[in-house]
This record gives sequence, structure tokens and C-alpha cells, in this order.
Amino acid sequence: MKAEPNACIDMFHEGCQHPGWQEVATGNVKLGTLGYARRGADTAARRLGLAPVIRLLFFERGPAYRLQPDPLHYSPLDHLNLAPYDGQLMGKAGPTGLTPQPTLWLRASLPPAVALWVACHESRHVWQDLTAFVGGLEEAEDDATTFAWATVEGLLAPEAIRAIAAELDWG
Ligand SMILES: [Zn+2]
Repeated sequence: MKAEPNACIDMFHEGCQHPGWQEVATGNVKLGTLGYARRGADTAARRLGLAPVIRLLFFERGPAYRLQPDPLHYSPLDHLNLAPYDGQLMGKAGPTGLTPQPTLWLRASLPPAVALWVACHESRHVWQDLTAFVGGLEEAEDDATTFAWATVEGLLAPEAIRAIAAELDWG
């Protein structure tokens, strides 16, 4: 069977044709997205007892990305790209346990309220890593999603929350 042109062949993307993820400088991210992402991360950090300032990095689709063979030289951007390619990726919790400051990757093009939701969701994944969360991938996703909805409920008006739900249904 012939692979789809955009199919992801391996986690390191050596033979892949699909795009990769590149970093977007904070100065090129819309203020609404930055502000809401920060609000989500700060609120989540407070509720979860994480280090007070979570580092936010932003990404967008870019050229094909090949990972270096040696994980010891990986950067946060390598970590972001080290996964089967998912064109709908909205965020990823950075590697935890390496620095006291948690890191989140967020997609630069997220609408503000969605950025807030994703920041809460990914913060919960950081918390799961740090607290040795028991459960499989699906339980971890459900737990992060539950936390994100519970957190945005206290922060946003009902119509903004309905708009997030509509956006998250995009895949
Ligand atoms: Zn790939």
C-alpha cells in the first residue's frame, strides 16, 4: 500500500513528507491569544500548585522537520516535533522534570478563548507528569479536558464557552 503524501512514517520524520512545527516568536502572536493563553496558564498554575510562571512557547506549521539522532541534544522544538504528525495539534506540554519552570507549546493561530482552554488543558498534563498520574493516555486526555472545562467556566461568559466548544469540534 502506498503511503498518503502527508502520512507520518515515524516519530523522527526521516522519510516523512508532511510539514513540521516551527516556533513563532511571541512578538508575532496576536495580543488576544497571548493574553488569554497567559490567563489560562496562570489560573491553572494556581489551581494545580505548579510553579507560578509557566513558560509559553508558540508554534505554527513550517517546513518538514527531521529530528537529530541524539536525544541529549534535543531542544523544546525537537520535543514538540517528536511525535506522530497531527495537523490539528493545538498544544503540547513541554518536557517536564528538566527545569522547575513548566513549559507549554501553544498553536499561535488559536483564537483567544481557545488558547485559554488549551493552556489549561496542557497545564493539567504538566501536573499529571509531576504527580505520576495513574492511567492510560485516554484517561489522561479525559482528565485534562475535564480540568480545562471546569477552569474556563469560572473565567468566561457562557457564549464564549459555547464558542470554544464549537472550535474544538473542528477536527
Ligand atoms: Zn512524520
